[in-house]
Amino acid sequence: MLLNFKKKRAKLQAYTWFGLPLVVIGGWFYPKLGFFLLACMIGAVGIAFYKGRAWCDWMCPRGSFYDLFLQKISRNKGIPAFFRKRGVRIFMLSMLLSVLGIQVYFAWGNIDGIGMAMVKLLTITTAIGIILGIVYQHRIWCHICPMGTISNWMSEGKHPLNISEMCVDCKVCSKVCPMQLKPYQYKEQGVMGDNDCVKCSTCTVACPKKALNFEKEIKKAA
Ligand code: SF4
Ligand code: SF4
Repeated sequence: MLLNFKKKRAKLQAYTWFGLPLVVIGGWFYPKLGFFLLACMIGAVGIAFYKGRAWCDWMCPRGSFYDLFLQKISRNKGIPAFFRKRGVRIFMLSMLLSVLGIQVYFAWGNIDGIGMAMVKLLTITTAIGIILGIVYQHRIWCHICPMGTISNWMSEGKHPLNISEMCVDCKVCSKVCPMQLKPYQYKEQGVMGDNDCVKCSTCTVACPKKALNFEKEIKKAA
């Protein structure tokens, strides 16, 4: 069942992953492709209004690329707590948006120049994401991605993952979670309290007790 689910998710990701090499490689020859990054930023924030970080599941080309390819060569270690610190995320967000803003300012009026600024930003951050992804875990970038951080801040209460008291703390959910989150830790609250959940549903399928779901009504333990 989990295998079938993973295949279905990979099929969805197959529709989007190529957007990443298209811009990171093609953008150096045709800079206007850089505006694709702007479309992704708008998409991520737009989705976050009503579904939290769901964009990061399969709609984000970079997230899909990391899941489909980087995962195969990653050492798959634990993501260091450092990368999830609020201060680190705010630093990454302000630094990367400032760098982009300054480049766009100097290229103002030149469409190719603005596109190239976005191509450069995407290329550099993707390279960082790949290196970190190989050394640690394939989705580590998603914890410091500026759009991921903004979506995280908008995610509170949006399409939450429910955790019922049927949970037996086997921790299978955290082992299969691409974001290395720990749904079982929120059993008492009954709702996932980690806004980095990308709503991928992998844990709901993997849970042997069917204790997780995205429906409004959760089954109560008999
Ligand atoms: S996989 Fe299910 S039963 Fe196991 S810890 Fe997670 S929520 Fe609880
Ligand atoms: S907690 Fe579950 S739904 Fe959320 S990202 Fe992890 S596996 Fe996906």
